[in-house]
Amino acid sequence: MFDFTLTSERPIAAGMYVNGQWLSRGPASAAIEVENPANEDVVATITEGTETDAGEALDAARRAFAPWAGRPAIERGRLIAALADEIDAHKDHLARLVTLEQGKPLGHATQEIDAGITFLRYAAENARRIEGDIVTSDNRDEEIHIRRHPYGVVVGLTAWNYPFALAARKLGPALVAGNTFVLLSHEATPLSGLALASLSEKAGLPAGVFNVVTGRGPVVGAALVQSPMSDLVTMTGSTRAGREIYRAGADAIKVVRLELGGKAPFLVMEDADIDRAVQAAVAARYTNCGQICTCNERMYLHRAIADEFLEKFVAASKALTLGDPLENADLGPKVNRVERDKVADIVASAVGAGAAVLLKGGIREDGAFSKGHWFAPTVLEASKNDNPAVQDEVFGPVATAVRVDDYDMAVRFANDTPFGLSAYLFTRDHKRLAQAPYRLKFGELYLNRSNGEAVQGFHTGWGLSGLGGEDGRYGFDGYLRKQTAYLNWG
Ligand code: NAD
Repeated sequence: MFDFTLTSERPIAAGMYVNGQWLSRGPASAAIEVENPANEDVVATITEGTETDAGEALDAARRAFAPWAGRPAIERGRLIAALADEIDAHKDHLARLVTLEQGKPLGHATQEIDAGITFLRYAAENARRIEGDIVTSDNRDEEIHIRRHPYGVVVGLTAWNYPFALAARKLGPALVAGNTFVLLSHEATPLSGLALASLSEKAGLPAGVFNVVTGRGPVVGAALVQSPMSDLVTMTGSTRAGREIYRAGADAIKVVRLELGGKAPFLVMEDADIDRAVQAAVAARYTNCGQICTCNERMYLHRAIADEFLEKFVAASKALTLGDPLENADLGPKVNRVERDKVADIVASAVGAGAAVLLKGGIREDGAFSKGHWFAPTVLEASKNDNPAVQDEVFGPVATAVRVDDYDMAVRFANDTPFGLSAYLFTRDHKRLAQAPYRLKFGELYLNRSNGEAVQGFHTGWGLSGLGGEDGRYGFDGYLRKQTAYLNWG
């Protein structure tokens, strides 16, 4: 059992969940401290898993596979729905846990738990939608049947920015499809995955169907990817790690699905509803302290409205509160010191390359911020599209604006990136809106609205932003492989 209430005065020690058992490796095993990013207190210690632990978890998942896949899908769906109910019943504790390990404001952490519940309930509904095709044959007395089967053992690797929702997003469809699962919960935010395991136990998932290991990606994660016992790897994280994982899976020709970084352009044209665009741009930049793959990472503003937009945007950025996430400030801390400093480094190189500072937020270490990893909203204006703040993913509360002469220039600048996750466009011109899907080379478009994908949509990155996609029917289909049978009765 893992006590996800985190109400103990002292840091709790959390083991791994393998084959329905909580493994406590004892004091001899290496441990990783989980830090509250708001005050640097240690909230828990987790086991630093090894290659052997990865092997044990995969072995458990492999042994659980045949009986799990052999159950009617509706039974698997009922268990996933039961897991969603358990989460719902413990929502307050889970939201607090996410805030304590990741740093997002409590209200937003509650939204994250709700998102996890939605992913699981939607997955459960798909239990009746595993379908095949019967195709006309060229031969007499023959039919071609295309069936869908689970892959076997799925490995899930998740990012720290939405540790609970990202795990649930992968787990639900993978299990309903009939696969079993081994999750490596990111070492910076491992407790959410362990809480999910705890609740899966309460919900009655059979031993071995869902296993959670903890430790470092390049060690335990790499072992999970390289092992011949895993059949599909689904990873959400950085493009850097995605490349390593893709390479590591290559020898075994492993199915690898990658949801990676983004660099979303935010286009505001001369005919846009400016107030609406500002509100959306603020939400899309600063929610979760700017740590969302679909965040507004660079704003292309038509010259005719740039001054008005920036005046309102800077004022709104300045008005945001930075503070205790348990007290629901607008922005909590960055997840850790390394991530905070990465953002500061990008700002320094952007300014070095000529960006003007419109709002100097930056690192805060004064007074109430002396402990924790605080970074205040910062607004830059760049004159060139090759400025580092315009090209590199910032993943923090730094907004960068670039003025453009017209829509064509905005589209050209927007597409000038190897990333292709999401893009925003604000305009009242219906021709531009209708053409945007043909002109913007991104997997997800937000036209006259802020971010936030729907469970029935398809969250997919192009280019360096990934390979695969999640949610909706295409996301579910990703956990099923196809088989063709030629059935001749002549
Ligand atoms: P990360 O790349 O550090 O880690 C992601 C996962 O991969 C973790 O579980 C980690 O342990 C594992 N891992 C790392 N190296 C590995 C290796 N060599 N072998 C096996 N496993 C390994 O990711 P992060 O820094 O937590 O995430 C931030 C990034 O995630 C940002 O770039 C963000 O844009 C992206 N992201 C993308 C999406 C999306 O849906 N496209 C969603 C959220 C976050």
